[in-house]
Formats: sequence, structure tokens, C-alpha cells
Amino acid sequence: MAGLFCGHCKREYSLDEVLWRCECGSVLDIEFEANFPIQEIMGRAPNLWRYRESIPLARDGNIISMGEGFTPMVEEDIDGVSVHLKLEYMFPTGSFKDRGASVLVSKMRELGVKDAIEDSSGNAGCAIAAYCAKGKIDCHIYVPDRAPVEKLTQIGMYGSSKRISGDREAVAAAALRAAEQGYYASHSWNPFFLQGTKTLAFEVCEQLNWRAPNTLIVPVGNGTLLLGAYIGFRDLLAGGIIDKMPRLIGVQAAPCSPLFQMFKGGLEDIPLITQGDTIAEGIAIAKPIRGGQIIEAIKESKGDIISVRDSQIQESLRMMGRVGYYIEPTSAVAIAGAKTYLKGATPGETIVIPLTGTGLKATQKMIGLGMD
Ligand SMILES: *Cc1c(COP(=O)(O)O)cnc(C)c1O
Ligand SMILES: [Zn+2]
Repeated sequence: MAGLFCGHCKREYSLDEVLWRCECGSVLDIEFEANFPIQEIMGRAPNLWRYRESIPLARDGNIISMGEGFTPMVEEDIDGVSVHLKLEYMFPTGSFKDRGASVLVSKMRELGVKDAIEDSSGNAGCAIAAYCAKGKIDCHIYVPDRAPVEKLTQIGMYGSSKRISGDREAVAAAALRAAEQGYYASHSWNPFFLQGTKTLAFEVCEQLNWRAPNTLIVPVGNGTLLLGAYIGFRDLLAGGIIDKMPRLIGVQAAPCSPLFQMFKGGLEDIPLITQGDTIAEGIAIAKPIRGGQIIEAIKESKGDIISVRDSQIQESLRMMGRVGYYIEPTSAVAIAGAKTYLKGATPGETIVIPLTGTGLKATQKMIGLGMD
């Protein structure tokens, strides 16, 4: 049975209700039976909509797409171990967030939503703003005034942006107030966003000749990539395409690592942390809405959470540049985590690391760090 459901109060809703959270206030998830007609899929255009039967959208006419997805996956040596890098910075707006935005904004068109509200420190705002512009939906993005100037400019170019003073939590609170009137196209709350980010798992699997990797290493803030990957691999398991859930390794920046502390400390809830400054501003999330779900996904996959210091992130950022990958500091978090993980990896393990965002949006920051 396809529908929206609440894991907290167990209410169920149809996929056509205009809801971004449950009436009880909790997050909603989506129940949907994915299908993988492999021969047909392989004959389709190289974008994420090739997995059409696994994306919960009723009518093709509602698809808002710029040909996003099916990003390259290349082999690279990290500390003498061969890994697969998935080049997620090769998207229309420069980050993997386009996966979630294309599916969510398409669903908004299907629902007849005319106004979108989102809050973001950058890339999610860029993605939602771009796809709303493409789909002619009015869009209001709340961003912290300290967000990187490249991302602020990009959001403005798409015709949207509202700056808020204060940290990410203050911005989220302002957006939440605005969302009482409009539709919250939030990458952290809205379950349709995860129905887009899950296509990363499908692509990885197809690019490995329809096999699952052993391990996926991703940066984690709100967990949209990690949870998306988890949902995608679960779809592939249910569809009989793979027979084992890959190990999911989330990496956090030490100055803002509530999930690391929750996981390692065996805590029931997200600890109240004082958020320190990190160069990985894209994942500096003190209170991830889906924190509990992230921890559960990691446990179920027999995965782990690794925390890395800014000095390690910066070193990884430089190392990646030297082999030809210009990524943003937040993306280098996964590489820094991989360097820790690889010390204990099993020989022959298939490891995939998405490179989540382009360095072209972090030029000011790199100059500030003296990396030019
Ligand atoms: C959004 C983002 C991530 C992952 O963040 P989540 O908050 O966990 O979804 C990683 N890297 C970049 C560049 C991002 O923009
Ligand atoms: Zn509920």
C-alpha cells in the first residue's frame, strides 16, 4: 500500500495529501513499492528519472527535470586503497541536492502547490530554488546571513532568498513559522526529498553491474544523503536486486557532531550541544530532525559514525585538489572519514564515496583558508 505514514502516532495519509509533516507534529515517511525493470531502465536516458517505477509521482507530465543524475563513478586510490568516487558535484546546481529537489518539486507541481518555503545553509536552497524556477513555482528560501556568498548569490539568481541573522536553528525557526501558511519544501522534513536522494543507491548499484557495494561513506548533517541511500538500498533489497544492505558510514565534523555523540554515547536523544565553528558549514546541524532515524539506519546496516577535525577536512580537501577533484570543504569530510575507515577496511571491500558538492561555491572560503 502506497502512502504517507507517521512512525510516531501511526497515522496514515494518501500520497496526494498536501502535508509535509504529520498532524501530531512528527516527520512523515513514504511507503511505496519500488520496481526495477532492469532491461528497460538500461535503455533510458542517463538521468535519475530512468528509475521511474521507483519514484512516487503519479503522472510523467509533472516531472520537473534538467537531466540531473546518473553522475559518473570513478575509481581512485585513497591511501593506497582503491575506492569508487561518485561525482555528485556534477548536477545542474552543483550538488547532490538536485536529486531531492527534482523529485520534491515535481511532486509539488502534482499537488498544485504554488508557494514553496525552504531553509538551508546553501546547497539545498540552491536546488529547491532552481527547480521551483524551472517549474514556475514561487519560492522563498531562508538562509543564514553567514552562508557562503556564492550560494547566496546563486539562490538570488534563481529569483529567491530571504536572509536571516542568526544560526541554522534560527533560520529553521523562521522558515517553520512561514510554513504554517505555505508548503514546507524542507529537505530535512519533507519525505519526498528522500525519495529523490535515494536514487543515488540505484545508480551506484547499476554502475556496479547491479551489485551493492560493501560500504558507503557519506558526510552527515540532516542525513538527507544517508537516509536517502538507506531507503534506496532497502528498495533494491525489497525488489530482489541486491541481497545485503551495505554498511553505511556517516561522517560528522567534530565541532558540530551531535549524531556522533548520540551514537557513541548510546544516547536515547540528540544531545544539546554548543555548536562550534567548522569549515564544513554544509553539515553544521545541531539538531537534525531525523536524528533518530539516522542512528537506526546506521545500526541496521552495521555501520558507524566517524568524527573528523577541521584540520583533517582541510588536508583531505587539498589532497583531492591535487588529484583533480575540486570539491567544497563539506564534501571533503567524507574523504577525511574514509582515511580513518580505511585503516580497518577488509581487503577487496567495494567502497563508494560520494563527492557531494562543487568547490566552485567555496572559493571565498578557500581563499580565507589560504588554500589558493
Ligand atoms: C547537504 C550536503 C551534505 C549532506 O548533508 P545532510 O544535511 O546530511 O543532507 C553533504 N555535502 C554537501 C556539499 C551538502 O550540500
Ligand atoms: Zn503522527
